[in-house]
Amino acid sequence: MSTHSVSVPPITLETIHTIDDDSFTSDRVCIVTGSASGIGRAVALAAAGNGLTVGATDFDAAGLEETVSRAEEIDLPGTITPIVADLTVDEDIERIVEEAATLGDITYLANVAGVQHIDALEDFPMDTYDRIHDIMLRAPIYLSKRCIPHFKDSEDGTGCVGNMASVHGHYVTSDKVAYNVSKFGLRGLTQSIAAEGDGDIRSFSVSTGYVKTPLVTNQLEDTADQRGISVQEVIEEVMLGQSRVKTMMDPIDVANLFIIGFSDLGSHLDGGDLLFDGGMTLTYE
Ligand code: NAD
Repeated sequence: MSTHSVSVPPITLETIHTIDDDSFTSDRVCIVTGSASGIGRAVALAAAGNGLTVGATDFDAAGLEETVSRAEEIDLPGTITPIVADLTVDEDIERIVEEAATLGDITYLANVAGVQHIDALEDFPMDTYDRIHDIMLRAPIYLSKRCIPHFKDSEDGTGCVGNMASVHGHYVTSDKVAYNVSKFGLRGLTQSIAAEGDGDIRSFSVSTGYVKTPLVTNQLEDTADQRGISVQEVIEEVMLGQSRVKTMMDPIDVANLFIIGFSDLGSHLDGGDLLFDGGMTLTYE
């Protein structure tokens, strides 16, 4: 029986990178999808840690409450308001933006929610493809479409959309066609927003390898048992086999990249991708 050597570290005030940015104020709203877990929760906490008002959305109401509780426990300067919504439902997407607009000026949108399904292309169920597409690509497009008028209406007419891509938005692994196509598509959305935003409305994507989220850590013991290897070997050989850096990122490390991208430090990051993959995609042995 293998033992768990990876746990998801709790997010603390000290791990949130704070940036002294004129736009990080409580009258500005950051919408974050997937806020009930993993990277989305970390982005919501990091945005509130930087003084922003957060519209935290997910269809997992209990998980969203945990995100709000964590923000209160560590006494973040910004507030997090949960907005329970399903990204496959257009009326829910419209409501996310409407409710967020009541909290202040919508200035930032972080499209983070995502799911996975493993099947060969020839066996891939099309209803599953449609659902993944709706959550991971159509929803980010529709949310962007609904947020851009709010960006334009704000005092300085600016705004920024950060999209959670992946190494799977650069190269692909087999049996993940819907995920791969969604991540490549998100990079297309990022560049399309940049093309139309004239520098006032920016967009960027974030591409990482494996991150310590429940989605990943929950698979470790099973994979180790299936393959008859240790959890550490699963991490180093299976997940990080092609990575030069042999440790997984923490969710907050990814969230801090969103904060940098949203801030003035990112003012020339427009259509670009933050590839933080430990050397996974651009090197080989
Ligand atoms: P996670 O499972 O911890 O979080 C995903 C969240 O999306 C969950 O809270 C879930 O409830 C929400 N969600 C799913 N379907 C939804 C729907 N229909 N409506 C509303 N919310 C919905 O996963 P994570 O690891 O934090 O992944 C977040 C993002 O990061 C995903 O886009 C994923 O592809 C990407 N990513 C993850 C890793 C990794 O190693 N964990 C690496 C690269 C990219």
